[in-house]
Amino acid sequence: MLEWKKNVRFVEPYVPGEQPKEEGIIKLNTNENPYPPSPKVVNLKMDLEKLRIYSDPEALELVSAIAGYHGLNNDQVFVGIGSDDVLAMSFMTFLNSDKPILFPDITYSFYDVWAKLLRIPYETKALKDDFSINIEDYYGENGGIVFPNPNAPTCLYMPLDNIRGILDHNRDVVVIVDEAYIDYAGESALSLIDDYDNLLVVRTFSKSRSMAGLRIGYAMGNSELISALNSVKFSFNSYTMNYLQIKLGVESIKDDVYFKDMIAKVKNTREWFSKELKRLGFSYPESSTNFVFATHNRVPAKELFEAAKKEKIYLRYFANLRIDNYLRITIGTDEEMKRLVEFFEKYLTNN
Ligand code: PMP
Repeated sequence: MLEWKKNVRFVEPYVPGEQPKEEGIIKLNTNENPYPPSPKVVNLKMDLEKLRIYSDPEALELVSAIAGYHGLNNDQVFVGIGSDDVLAMSFMTFLNSDKPILFPDITYSFYDVWAKLLRIPYETKALKDDFSINIEDYYGENGGIVFPNPNAPTCLYMPLDNIRGILDHNRDVVVIVDEAYIDYAGESALSLIDDYDNLLVVRTFSKSRSMAGLRIGYAMGNSELISALNSVKFSFNSYTMNYLQIKLGVESIKDDVYFKDMIAKVKNTREWFSKELKRLGFSYPESSTNFVFATHNRVPAKELFEAAKKEKIYLRYFANLRIDNYLRITIGTDEEMKRLVEFFEKYLTNN
């Protein structure tokens, strides 16, 4: 073995969904929004000469637009390069106990990658058979808790009373609620941050705001949590947010009418598509996200995944325990979902 290899931090990385380069595909594999960002974002004239100087290390314009939107103070908001960056920073900042952190066995598959990278001990808690979270699993001693609400890829929303239950049993550790998909679901845990100083709520511009390519995520919580996050961020990289992210992020926040319209459109398509799936012999947990998680009563998910890909329709398949017969299908435009239904109809008739 080469000597230097002894000092390398070898990790098994997170594998994001494919971003195929070919034209004419239907891309339903990474939970992107099928609609463009707000016209205010698309049409904003920017002074690119400004790229000459460093961006505002505090990204104050963006922080204060987000804070204003949610009725918070600026010192209750932290911004980062997508919620992946915000979550990674939160793991680094808050999860430094010798006790294991807890998260569900079926969940966002980046959590265990960050835990391993940062050498954080962790334990997973099995979801119930219907994929719901058993909140009592989170009542024992631990070094912190993280879960998405709604959960991914199961698409199930957990009511706030249950989150309150988890928080009431965990006053001494930080509880991170990853709300990447909350705009397609129910009430946000944001309403609890005044009651629980250990609650951090994380959001993204990648899904409901149609800006996955720009990379903006944020965390909201008690000002002491946010201050701790900022100290770690400024010990790592001062200029995480660039001029484009700051300017375009603010424009997105300004256009609430468009934002709500696009959410309603995706939800409508989701309701129609879910009924079609049922008709075709699929079953699924009721979706509170911009994707559905479905299994067919006869044909294996892997086979459908591969057959769809041959027709240039990209879905997501996870070869993981308990979910290896499920497809995660992002909600696209009505037209895209009709094409997928036609594909399923034809394939299931002939196979
Ligand atoms: N959390 C969950 C549950 C997700 O599914 C995703 C999307 N992969 C993210 C966080 C990260 O999204 P982004 O970094 O684009 O904000």
